[in-house]
Amino acid sequence: MATEPGPGTAPGPATDPRPTLAVWKFASCDGCQLTLLDCEDELLALAARVRIDHFLEMTPAEGADGERASSYGRGPYDLSLVEGSITTAEDAERIQHVRRISRCLVTIGACATAGGIQALRNFADVEDFLAAVYAQPEYVATLETSTPISAHVPVDFELRGCPIDRRQLLEVVTAHLAGRKPRIPGHSVCYECKRRGTTCVTVAHGTPCLGPVTHAGCGAICPAYGRGCYGCFGPTSRPNLRSMVAQLRHDGMSEQDIQRVFHTFNAASPEHAPVPDLAAEEQDSSRA
Ligand code: SF4
Ligand code: SF4
Repeated sequence: MATEPGPGTAPGPATDPRPTLAVWKFASCDGCQLTLLDCEDELLALAARVRIDHFLEMTPAEGADGERASSYGRGPYDLSLVEGSITTAEDAERIQHVRRISRCLVTIGACATAGGIQALRNFADVEDFLAAVYAQPEYVATLETSTPISAHVPVDFELRGCPIDRRQLLEVVTAHLAGRKPRIPGHSVCYECKRRGTTCVTVAHGTPCLGPVTHAGCGAICPAYGRGCYGCFGPTSRPNLRSMVAQLRHDGMSEQDIQRVFHTFNAASPEHAPVPDLAAEEQDSSRA
């Protein structure tokens, strides 16, 4: 297990007035933290405003001071972006350290905000998954569940998506620098379809689409290409799941199909918890 260094001991340039930024990885695919590097046109301007002090994805294994890069980092950091969910006992400890050395902590992506695709284990026996995937599961140390960062430490802001949207990420960092709340709209993907003039795939073609209950942020990419949204940005704050499930049944999905379409990147979102009961009710009423 890595050793936890004490906070506030980093030998950062004392004369550098820029706020410090750290990027952390927990159980995840790296797609969300790579979104920061994907800000190609804005990256130099961003680096002029913040000092990226901890970002293992882009920094060398050894720093200019000869010190090895560590998944713990030293801090303190003004803004921490946290990717990934908590799936091991060590990570459950490490996130406490990250919180202690971060003035502001923002979670990025479905893994960090909802447990991610790996939270499918929460609905089954993790030992079964281990036995199916690994030749020698006895060497794998893992928790029975995958949980979001907010289940372990206070989170200042949650950015949704799988992966997150680069424009929303820039808004979060910019808002932090300006000392204001990020302007991230809470409306649904449907709203984005209307704004870009996309014909509704459900109304026009009867294509099942989770857009009405999915958080905006992607720019409604999937419907723009003629396919339904499958909810990678997670639930809106108050999704009308009863109407959504009824519409999915109307569009030809079975009870099992409906449960499966909600069991992806945001499967463990508490907002999605009523789906199995609603899908069963719809199935019963269509039989009656
Ligand atoms: S939310 Fe999606 S893109 Fe981001 S780290 Fe998790 S799996 Fe990867
Ligand atoms: S699945 Fe939905 S939220 Fe995800 S990119 Fe497609 S339209 Fe956007």
